[in-house]
Amino acid sequence: MGKVSIGMRGWRFDEEDILDEDGDFLPLAQMPEDARKRMIRLDVIYNAPCHGCWLIYGDDNLEACNRARYVYGEPLSEVILCEEHEPDFVYWFREEGGDAHRGSDDFAEAFYEWFLEGGRAPEGYEGMEYVETDPTDLPKPPKADPDEHGDLMGDDISDRVGLSDEDIANADVDFGAEYPGRK
Ligand SMILES: [Zn+2]
Repeated sequence: MGKVSIGMRGWRFDEEDILDEDGDFLPLAQMPEDARKRMIRLDVIYNAPCHGCWLIYGDDNLEACNRARYVYGEPLSEVILCEEHEPDFVYWFREEGGDAHRGSDDFAEAFYEWFLEGGRAPEGYEGMEYVETDPTDLPKPPKADPDEHGDLMGDDISDRVGLSDEDIANADVDFGAEYPGRK
């Protein structure tokens, strides 16, 4: 059995954990807990705004944010990223100490802090390499039931990571030349 991504690149599932022999999704209740949690989160974060874009534009300017195509980290402390910001995340993880936060509750927050301080990958840095050519070709995640899985279906990253709107606004000042703030 192979590994598959659903909805977004990054998270990978054992096919046998999530699909039946016809290739249809198993009921969520029949998936192993870790796979079930990720699948429920994917339903929430599928097509959601990229966190990098969100840190730049905020809730008031969601239409300026690219849709996320990549997901890294653990359910509820995951980071979701667009094509443009995925290399920044991969650079942080590999070269800027992000790996040390692997599996911890502050995983996403640690990345946000680095990003808000102007952390970016060098020009031309490549993110993870994927065999598939188009993440939008991936199968869509199944719908989860909010009554049953509400604890995994929160959607507001500003609540989740404990960054206030004020933090975000203040951080704008520190962005580099690419994202000029109010000077
Ligand atoms: Zn982005």
